[in-house]
Amino acid sequence: MDPSEFRRHGHALVEWIAEYLSGAERYPVLPRVEPGDVRDALPDSAPEEGEPFDRIFADFERVLLPALTHWNHPGFFAYFATSASASGVLAEFLSAALNQQAMLWRTSPAATELEEVSLAWLRRLMGLPDAFEGVIYDTASIASLHALAAAREAEVPDVREKGLAGRDDVGRLRVYCSEHAHSSIDKAVLMLGLGHSSLRRIPADDAFSMRAGELRAALDDDRGARITPIAVVATIGTTSTTSVDPVREIADICRDERVWLHVDAAYAGVTAMIPEYRAHFTGWERADSIVVNPHKWLFTPFDLSAFYCRRMDVVRQAFSLVPEYLRTAEGSRGVRNLMDTGVQLGRRFRSLKLWMILRHFGAERIRGVLREHIRLAHGFAAWVDAHPDFERVAPVPFSVVCFRAKPRDLTLTASELDAFNERLMEAVNASGDVFLSHTRLNGMLVLRLAIGHLRTTAQHTARAWELLCAHTAELARH
Ligand SMILES: *Cc1c(COP(=O)(O)O)cnc(C)c1O
Repeated sequence: MDPSEFRRHGHALVEWIAEYLSGAERYPVLPRVEPGDVRDALPDSAPEEGEPFDRIFADFERVLLPALTHWNHPGFFAYFATSASASGVLAEFLSAALNQQAMLWRTSPAATELEEVSLAWLRRLMGLPDAFEGVIYDTASIASLHALAAAREAEVPDVREKGLAGRDDVGRLRVYCSEHAHSSIDKAVLMLGLGHSSLRRIPADDAFSMRAGELRAALDDDRGARITPIAVVATIGTTSTTSVDPVREIADICRDERVWLHVDAAYAGVTAMIPEYRAHFTGWERADSIVVNPHKWLFTPFDLSAFYCRRMDVVRQAFSLVPEYLRTAEGSRGVRNLMDTGVQLGRRFRSLKLWMILRHFGAERIRGVLREHIRLAHGFAAWVDAHPDFERVAPVPFSVVCFRAKPRDLTLTASELDAFNERLMEAVNASGDVFLSHTRLNGMLVLRLAIGHLRTTAQHTARAWELLCAHTAELARH
């Protein structure tokens, strides 16, 4: 592509993206496609001869666009809503062009040092002490994997050299988390060779928070059975209900037991920027490591996960490996080489997104959007609470509401009620205006409305509620 052609397509694409970002509502949030539609619409093999960009883009619009789930739709209320903010998109565009690989300081001094600076900005906004060194990974799953790898490194002598298998000097190891912790913690223990049974899930209370007393009992119990605790994962903002574990008490236990404390605040962490929400975070400053996802609720196009660690030396001890061809003079002068803090060698220039977003929004505007999302969630919760055919099934600490329909005129068994709510969710999602997902709490199928998109307004939550009420009435009649 020569420069003039690039300009032509580039300008056209920017026009297209500008339309898209402001007008994603034009599309159904959930696509109306069947499995295999996309695959069947595309040829089996790549072309021998290159094709003009116009033709390729036409196929993008014809085949792929109708099969996109629109995470940028303001009616996206499933899982955790996210946003590709314009400043984040521009940063991605620039980053792709620059093609930086910040494995060594010298392979991108800018990306290496901007990562340090932008993560320090975010850390200070969230009120965390400077003792936390930061590194950017792709996802919270990978961040938690690194946290638990560091915990294993800290606890098991020579694990780096000898591994775990076939050793009689290392007994069983254990990691603890709440029964509501994210599945990425399970995957981390699988990856680290600890085995799934080494994850002990601690029961939660009525507000879905880990019972600290049960954690202490589990640790005592395991120590008695000669099982070595290596880490506790506390969650601030669990995935189903956004409940908050008692981090202060858990931190006390981890201090007494000398066990690594990892805090998973992938979704809710950014609300530590809001003074009136700090209380949820009491004790997290004592963690060994913390993960927060700007790609969830900080308007950052996927992906960008911020990992903070007080003991990054242990992460380095676990992962640093410098072959001759990657040795540099400045490496011995104490510069950070980002390849030393993780599995990956090459890494993308993600910090450009964080830096541009933090600057473009400014902290006060970010706080304003987060507060508005939380306000909208409380408004929705109040509608649920006031309606005789609905019930709310969890507190709303942040911007997620867990609820279900329970039509007063129907007598349904537990499983019929689950089926009713599943049909309700499918009916509402088929509208194309909103997309909700579900979870299971205390055995019940529960719907979730998660607010987090930059362009979501009261109009969108009202539309969700209108659809829920109308379809509940409709389904109850049949
Ligand atoms: C979303 C989420 C994760 C996983 O995030 P990824 O970045 O997709 O790996 C982990 N923990 C919690 C609490 C989450 O909400």
